[in-house]
Amino acid sequence: IRPLAEADPEVDQAIAQELIRQQSTLEMIASENFAPTAVMQAQGSVLTNKYAEGYPGKRYYGGCEHVDVIEQLAIDRLKSLFGAEYANVQPHSGAQANAAAMHALITPGDTIMGLNLAHGGHLTHGMRINFSGKLYNVVPYSVREDTHTIDMAEVERLAVENKPQLIVAGWSAYSRQLDFAEFRRIADLVGAYLMVDMAHFAGLVAAGLHPSPVPHAHIVTSTTHKTLGGPRGGVILTNDAEIAKKVNSAVFPGQQGGPLEHVVAAKAVAFKFASEPEFKERQVRVLEGAKILAQRFLQDDVAEAGISVVSGGTDVHLVLVDLRNSELNGQQGEDALHHIGITVNRNAVPFDPRPPMVSSGLRVGTPALAARGFGAAEFTEVADIIATALIAAAGDGTLGEDTAVELRARVTALAEQFPLYPHLGTAGSA
Ligand code: PLP
Repeated sequence: IRPLAEADPEVDQAIAQELIRQQSTLEMIASENFAPTAVMQAQGSVLTNKYAEGYPGKRYYGGCEHVDVIEQLAIDRLKSLFGAEYANVQPHSGAQANAAAMHALITPGDTIMGLNLAHGGHLTHGMRINFSGKLYNVVPYSVREDTHTIDMAEVERLAVENKPQLIVAGWSAYSRQLDFAEFRRIADLVGAYLMVDMAHFAGLVAAGLHPSPVPHAHIVTSTTHKTLGGPRGGVILTNDAEIAKKVNSAVFPGQQGGPLEHVVAAKAVAFKFASEPEFKERQVRVLEGAKILAQRFLQDDVAEAGISVVSGGTDVHLVLVDLRNSELNGQQGEDALHHIGITVNRNAVPFDPRPPMVSSGLRVGTPALAARGFGAAEFTEVADIIATALIAAAGDGTLGEDTAVELRARVTALAEQFPLYPHLGTAGSA
């Protein structure tokens, strides 16, 4: 019963520093969010002690009566949130959900198609040294060079030529909506399964602000910690009873042993929140914020620095800043923003001439700031701060000291206006 501060001051101190970092900077990594306190409480509960291999009502361990209630709540809430018949809430992560979904539907040596990693796809959609690239024969599809949107004609041509067993639709760095019906038409044409990985945009789907893949795909996977705003983890949905059975056995015992019931409880809480009107209102601000960023980054002063926006805008929670024609590279852009207290990640953009570790892009997302309470006025201010920083840094890759001081002060003012987790202590007192 010794508190962490006493039992392990080193870890406690690092957690306190991380709290200060989250409170005092502006988090704009598109895949991140701030979990509500109730979600963190469920995750930090006694459930972490419990083994519960199996599924509710069919466990391989005794004493599962309470975790059964919790896992069933998570399953029922998830099904109702997305209008799906079957749900598995046990995958420890998005990557594991994808591994289990593939394991359920196809066999090693089969052919899969996924969006090229360099064009916004995810590692688990067929990257060479990921399990997906090692187990399956991967045929990547791409975005068009003129529009930066997925080339559905190419998807169809590659599908007809390569007869994949599985087509994956989904992305980690893409700013437009996917045409799920068209993906399904192509999958049916060649007898492939369609898997949609909605990890990034699941929160928008839950809020009814993005088309749902559930009616179109054989299987839908997601993370629970991105736009959905829950604990770190994965889930799998399907409307097909046979596929649901295969998914359950692919997750356990196929991929995992004991589920993380403390995380499952936190997922249940997050799914409850995601069904409430406040969540929808927040996702409206997420989308509005991203559009405000894109509009600012398309203005003349930014264009004069050779900076633009991939696909010319956004329909989702992120903007991809295109630095291909700028002196500034992705690494320098990330560092310049970090210097003033804004956290983003550099990201390859389609047809990027620079190597991935440097890259010519920045992925800038709005979910975490919307969770903090940001609306149009604050996103307008943050968009201007970023634009000013990137223009200033485009000269020699660094910000002048005066600019840095001024921009950092504007960041601090925004952070202080929207305190994060105030009950956990504030930056000044932690
Ligand atoms: N799928 C997509 C589309 C993602 O963007 C990510 C994470 O970035 C994942 C899956 C993997 O999720 P995790 O990091 O929980 O394994």
